[in-house]
Order: sequence, then structure tokens, then C-alpha cells
Amino acid sequence: MTKVAPAPADARTSVTHTTTCNCSAHPITRAHLGATITASAARSTSAIEPAHHGRDRLSVAPSRAELLVVGQISTNDPWNPTAEAMAISGGSIIGIGSIAELEGLTDASTTTIKPDGVIIPGLVEPHMHIWTSLLNLSWPDLSHEACPTFDAAVQVVKDTAAKTPNGQFVLGKLFDPSLYPGEPVLTRAILDQVSPDNPVLVMNASMHYLYANSAALAAAGVDDATLDPPGGTFGRVDGKLNGVIGEAPAMLMVFGALPKPTQQDIANGITQILNAAARRGVTSLREAATGTLAGVGEVALLHQLNGAARLPVRVSTAQFSLVPGKTPGQVAAAWAEAGVTPFSGDEMVRADAWKVVTDGSNQGRSGYFMQPYLGEVSGGKANLTPEQLREVFSVGLDAGWQLMVHTNGDAAVEFALTAMEELLPSYGGADLRHRFEHASFTTDDQLTRMAAAGISPSFLMNHVYYWGAAFRDSILGPSRADRLDRVASAYAAGMLPSLHSDYNVSEINPLLSARTAVLRNLEADGSVLNAAECATPAQALAAITTNAAWQIHADDRGSLEVGKRADWAVCRRTHGRPMPRVGPISP
Ligand SMILES: [Zn+2]
Repeated sequence: MTKVAPAPADARTSVTHTTTCNCSAHPITRAHLGATITASAARSTSAIEPAHHGRDRLSVAPSRAELLVVGQISTNDPWNPTAEAMAISGGSIIGIGSIAELEGLTDASTTTIKPDGVIIPGLVEPHMHIWTSLLNLSWPDLSHEACPTFDAAVQVVKDTAAKTPNGQFVLGKLFDPSLYPGEPVLTRAILDQVSPDNPVLVMNASMHYLYANSAALAAAGVDDATLDPPGGTFGRVDGKLNGVIGEAPAMLMVFGALPKPTQQDIANGITQILNAAARRGVTSLREAATGTLAGVGEVALLHQLNGAARLPVRVSTAQFSLVPGKTPGQVAAAWAEAGVTPFSGDEMVRADAWKVVTDGSNQGRSGYFMQPYLGEVSGGKANLTPEQLREVFSVGLDAGWQLMVHTNGDAAVEFALTAMEELLPSYGGADLRHRFEHASFTTDDQLTRMAAAGISPSFLMNHVYYWGAAFRDSILGPSRADRLDRVASAYAAGMLPSLHSDYNVSEINPLLSARTAVLRNLEADGSVLNAAECATPAQALAAITTNAAWQIHADDRGSLEVGKRADWAVCRRTHGRPMPRVGPISP
């Protein structure tokens, strides 16, 4: 199961020089994304059938290339690490090697291009959020970068309220109290003081918390008598709501009070986010909580948008399983009724997973740990009871979904792993490639058991860079912080880990994630967080290409090889530029 490719020399360069690379999906790649669908359908009889029927259909190579890409090519294929030219037909690679070797594949009709930069496989972003991110694209930025102090963040809310007509919502995103040690969170009382006349909602950077004032709670019809939905909490002090809302099921109840975005707003937001991903070299991504904004219609909307104007990135969706007021069985039935079943869709938009969230945010102190947080008596709790967890897993497995399970703290990993160890044996040997998302803090024993159960981790790698010091110094302490994002140990246990951004928790930038996996350096002080967990450049590169592709059931991507999809990107070296920073992606 271990698949650690030796690093091609150029690939090594592209990772270690992330700070100086400007990477984007090539426009011609985008053109071929769409052509692939038609070509694949037209030659379905000659397609190479993969192990998983209906997925990853590869085309048999025709004899003439429509396109010849010439340049410095880093293939990510250990058997053929570098090449001078790549021949493409119908969206697939039909030849890759030296120019001389490919001569027989071209004729007068072949277009030749010579991109400026290193040609690499299109990068795969295996966990990010389109829907929740598009909702707040235009919200004021309260991130630590934009607001270096708590007071500065409060001031932005105040200034926004002053400019907003009475009664209209005042909004904010990316607020992160974990980076303001000693300061409070944005409670209802604070927000009432800052904005008495407008409803206020502020999203935590982790997307696991929402902060509301009294007017926002009233607009949502939430009061002290409102019960917590399964998997969500309304924070209370002495039985009174304190405005701190935890986890999607509760947050969704409050989002309902916001003015509904129009279809056009949604379409524009999706386009903006996908274009931002493409500019970072991403050609395939996994949307990690599909259904959270517009319900089961979100998948149809993606298809509709792709039909109107080809999407710049292939999208794999993870159907959200926890909806307030509905049982997991009812949620699954609604997806099925909408025609969204495992691996339904096409090469551009495909439904692949069943998303379950078992705990909260570690930096928000709502991740579920075996030991207490520093300065507290509790290590948090699970979002669900064991019975609820078994039910939601069983419903997903019965339907044939890949389980994509958010597990942040080590107790959440244990909670989900134990349930899956019990359940999975009765579901046979289907190759579903179940995943633990973030798997931020794990023990050796858990990694071994995950590998045995066929579960692989996807790490939010920039947890290390941005929050590593906070975990070490104020949230968990040094020994637990060392166990953050154990890429080297995951490989050693025989798994194929991937790296993700969780956008908009951090920016979409796989090369930046790979850089952090190799260096494990901390933004706060430049120190290294547990060098024993540093990935090799080859491991980091695989984690944003072949491993991530494998985890989203896209075996036809991640490296440039004959028979694979011609999804590629160009890295340009721009020495001397600073490392990209976290924050909203500008259009
Ligand atoms: Zn996420």
C-alpha cells in the first residue's frame, strides 16, 4: 500500500522553492478538461475499464496528438521523472518523453506550445469549501493578519455597523481568538455593545464557530428555549444564550436568517473560488461539505454551471450528512432523490463522499481530546453520541459512499476509528478509501489501526505554520503539539496521506502546504515543530498530487503519464518573492 515515489529532480525543486513559484493551471489545460468529457464518451467502447466501474475512465491513446507541450516537464512518475515533451489528444496524454520519441505522434494539424516555466501535474486540493466560503466572500476580513489585535477586530465590526443601515446584517469572517491569547471570544454581550441596532454574525476562521448578537439570534428565531440540534451547540451561561454557536447544524439554523444569495451571487462566487484554485495550479478539488448552503440542489447547480461555461477545475463533492431536523436516513434519501448517488456525475462534477463531522476546532478548543486543554478540566467532547455516529456511518456505508470523517482531536480520531473498526468488516472489501479529515492529533497506535482499517488521513497542513505556536504555548502544550499533522508517521504506517487547505480556513495553495509539510516551520517564531514528522519533498509532492487524487477516487490524475488525463500546471520561478500568506483569495 505504501507508494512513495522517488522525487524527480525538478519536482524537488518545485516544492522547496514554493516561496518563489507562481503556479497556475494552464489555459489550454482548461480547454482540455471539457474536451475530455466528449472524447471519453465518444470512445467508451475502447476505454480502459478501471477497477471501479464508472470512475476514472481512461481513453486508449489515438495515434495523433492535437497538442504537443514542449518544455521542462516534471512528471511525478517515478519511472519517467522528467520529459521534454507531452503529446495530448482528447484530453489524455498519449505520449511523454523526448521530442524525438514523440515525433510519430504529431502531424501538420498538431499545435505545439512551449510554456514558460516547469510543467507539473495539475495539483489536487482534496478538502476545501466552496459553499460556506462563497457565502462570506464579501464579508469584512477579521483575520489575525488583517486585525493584529482583538481590539482591531472589534473596531472593524464597529466601523462596519456604523456604515450599515439599521436592521441590516453586519458580518465578519476569519476571526480567530486562538491568536489573541488572553482575550475573550466575540460574545453576544460584546457584539450587543458594539452594534446595538444591527444583527451581527462573525464567522470563526475555523468555520466551526459563529458569533451572534441578540438581534441576530432574534432574527434567526433562536432563544434560550431553543434546543441544541444533534452535532451543534448554542453556547449558554446560566441557561442564557451567550451568542457563541458551535458546529454546522447549529450555525445553519442561524444562517437561515441571512438574506438569501441569488443564483447569480452563487454562480459568481463559485466561479471566483474555482478560478482562484486554478491560479494556484489546482485542476481537481474536493468540496468538503456539499449541501450546506443550498441543499441537495448544489450538485445540480455545479453541473448547470459547467454546462453553461466549463468549470476551470474538476469538482468532487462530499455530501453533508448532518442536517438540522432530519435523520441521516432522511438526508441520504434526499440526496438519492436528487440523483446524487455514489460516483454519480461526470469527469467535471462527481459525487464521491459522505461527510461526517465528529468534533470541532482544536484552536477553538472544541476539538475532542483524551487529555484536557491547557488551563481547563475538559478535553472537549464529541459532536455526536456513539449511537448517532454509528447511525450516520451506517447510512453512508449502506448507500455505498466513501466516508469522509472530520476528526480533529485525538479522542475524536479514537471515537471515529473505533466505530469504523466495528462497522467496516460487515461491508465487505469495497475500495472506498475512507478518509479522516485533519486527523490533526494522532497516536502511533491510531495510525497503525487506521492503516489496518483502510483509512487514510488528509492533513490541514498549515495548522502547523499558522497555529503551531498557539497549540504548543497556550492550547495543548509542547508534547501534544509535536503530534500535530504527522505526515512522516502516516507514511511510515503505510498510508497515503494528502494535504489540504480547508479553504477558507487557509488559502488554497497546495505548494504552500507541501512546503510546510517539509519544513514544519512556525509563523510565530520560525522554529520547527517536531522535525521527526517532516515529510521528504517527494512525500509532500505526492500528498498534493497522486495521494490526493487517490483519495478523491481520481486515479487518472496526479502524474503525467500515458493514459492519464492531461491535467497540468505551470510553475514559474519568481525568486525573491515572499511566501504567500493566509487570507481571503482576491479575485
Ligand atoms: Zn473542512
